[in-house]
Amino acid sequence: MSQAASPEKSPSGLTVDEVAGFRRRILKWYSVHQRDLPWRRNDDPYSVWISEMLLQQTRVDQARPYYDRFMARFPTVQALAEASIDEVLKSWEGLGYYARARNAHRAAIRIVSEYGGRIPSDPIEIGGLPGIGPYTAAAILSIAYNKDHAAVDGNVIRVLSRLFRIEDLVSRTPVKRRLQWLADTLLVPGRAADFNQAMMELGATVCLPRNPVCEFCPVMRYCKAQALLSDPSILPKKAPRKERPHRDVLAGLVVNDDRILIVQRPMDGLLGGLWEFPGGNREGEESLVDGVVRSVLGTTGLAISIVQDLPQVSHAFTHFRITLHGFICHLTSDSLDAQTSDNYRWVPFDQLTKFAFSRAHSRLIDFLRSDKHTGLRDRFVSVSPQTP
Ligand code: SF4
Repeated sequence: MSQAASPEKSPSGLTVDEVAGFRRRILKWYSVHQRDLPWRRNDDPYSVWISEMLLQQTRVDQARPYYDRFMARFPTVQALAEASIDEVLKSWEGLGYYARARNAHRAAIRIVSEYGGRIPSDPIEIGGLPGIGPYTAAAILSIAYNKDHAAVDGNVIRVLSRLFRIEDLVSRTPVKRRLQWLADTLLVPGRAADFNQAMMELGATVCLPRNPVCEFCPVMRYCKAQALLSDPSILPKKAPRKERPHRDVLAGLVVNDDRILIVQRPMDGLLGGLWEFPGGNREGEESLVDGVVRSVLGTTGLAISIVQDLPQVSHAFTHFRITLHGFICHLTSDSLDAQTSDNYRWVPFDQLTKFAFSRAHSRLIDFLRSDKHTGLRDRFVSVSPQTP
């Protein structure tokens, strides 16, 4: 007796009909439910690229005002390439992960000099630009050029790991390859722009990290985690987060008349290119006062005395946490002439906001502007148009 043929399965484990149904459902859902986001209003490669750079490690609501300001200030690749790195960092100030801004600036310069100002549509060429990894390249190629590349970001990893009930750590290379392969398999040929954005949108608005709203999910019928696990949100599996070490960081706000000393961090490395008040890490068991005197002398050659401490600022980076201790200082030497480097500036108080500072050092500026903490407010605000 002959057996009934089982439905043909695609390599993903879904039948051919199920893949077709999945594609139809997710595209239809996206056409109805997509959010109105500024970077979706056109498919200009430059705006797609900038939005993707801004959205790395950043939520949509945080990135949105930055996108609007960035595009107003640098409306074209040429404008970005011609800007100074200080201007670019200033437009990124407060968003964190400043390597993205530096890379965008470097990439813009190369796009203008090597590609005549046109963002390349070739995967090798675009993937060779600073800051454009496989995900960003796939996003630009699909959204701006509608090429068939599946873009797998954190949202898509979450959706796929649940759909296919992948219980291995998603940081492992073989698992990453499998996720990319699954996304490639599901991709709708000729509709890559909509498909990629639909998958990202599903992860961002329905298949949420903690509380997925499965009852509103257009592809719930295909989801193994929803069918087989009591709680789909246990996926994707990630390595346990290590305790972030803590360090005390010291900063001297060296005031000389109505000017204050700022230094620029080296261009490569953490917070590269941002401005800050001189200082450094606390060493061993030294007191905070000894530490700030030592570190300001070490970084600037200036001897200082402490006038007043400021409130502490706590800040968490990806791999460590800091407590920033700021001190108002005066000079005890006349060694100003030693500070001739481009990386040091004596800046009038009202000019401080023209420079890009990290979030923690920006808090120290807020304290400077506050009567409560320093008594410098009058001098600071008398010339500052930004003070309410
Ligand atoms: S059914 Fe639930 S867990 Fe599965 S993809 Fe949809 S929202 Fe995510």
